[in-house]
Amino acid sequence: MSKIIDGKALSVSVKDSIRGKVQELASKGLRRPCLAVVIVGDDPASRSYVKGKVSAAEYVGIDSPLIELPASITTGELLAEVQRLNADPSVDGILIQLPLPEHVDENAVLDAIDPSKDVDGFHPSNVAALWLGRPCFVPCTPLGVIKLIESTGIDIKGKNAVVVGRSNIVGKPVAKLLLDRNATVTIAHSRTVDLASVTRQADILVAAVGRPRMITADMIKPGAVVIDVGINRTADGKLAGDVDFEAVSQVAGFITPVPGGAGPMTIAMLMENTLQAFYSHSIVPEGLGVRS
Ligand code: NDP
Repeated sequence: MSKIIDGKALSVSVKDSIRGKVQELASKGLRRPCLAVVIVGDDPASRSYVKGKVSAAEYVGIDSPLIELPASITTGELLAEVQRLNADPSVDGILIQLPLPEHVDENAVLDAIDPSKDVDGFHPSNVAALWLGRPCFVPCTPLGVIKLIESTGIDIKGKNAVVVGRSNIVGKPVAKLLLDRNATVTIAHSRTVDLASVTRQADILVAAVGRPRMITADMIKPGAVVIDVGINRTADGKLAGDVDFEAVSQVAGFITPVPGGAGPMTIAMLMENTLQAFYSHSIVPEGLGVRS
């Protein structure tokens, strides 16, 4: 039976550490960090994600003005809003909740964000810096995945890591972060032949596919660390991960639940990235600007 990696508890400890740092900044007379949250339209899933982010910001003491824009907004109007936030010195981080309506040019909008405020790490400058091994904002879900793996105490170095999924926001950056920690990394995707034989080699398996319970027990190496990034809504309205939790937890050494695994850690990492953005924009007394 696996040990459950409690992403919720881990996220609370990360947020408590950030909260302590924000309080320390306030005690030195510095302003609070600020994350501007932009939501376009009224997609219920997007609203729920934004609510989680704003409430985490409130918890840690980060200002999080919510900018609600109509679904009818044009690309030009949204670009103007991004430029306004770029120019506002009180804003440290800008989060554009995705997806945007189809008629809006998502790439143009993300490319317009000042890279020093790009706390989601989606700007091409940050993506390039990640792959070049330079300082950058790393996307929040991949960062959270690494923290979840590290929380098991298992040394990533030299392990066989398999990432199922190759999206720009999850699969690829997770693979790069594992590579940086000296894992031997395989990226699997929809054209991978005999996926089970690939995943069975994994000491560390990260599932970021978007297909409910597709990773089954027979695909797992006994004792593996299994991180489930998937968030899927099933026909009965419940949430399911990409991993068949009940069966896989009989084989894996460690496993994250859904909900309560990668989701809360993503939000905690967004707070961490916002704090880092604040440090980069502010003159902070020595000793207060250290990444946790
Ligand atoms: P994408 O749809 O962008 O990417 C899915 C990836 O899975 C693609 O690379 C695709 O391969 C691959 N894939 C699809 N079918 C198969 C298959 N049968 N076998 C192997 N690989 C397959 O999704 P995202 O990366 O954005 O998200 C993945 C999941 O993670 C979703 O459930 C999403 O909701 C969740 N998520 C959770 C977050 C969190 O905070 N916990 C944050 C972001 C996402 P190909 O490239 O060949 O098409």
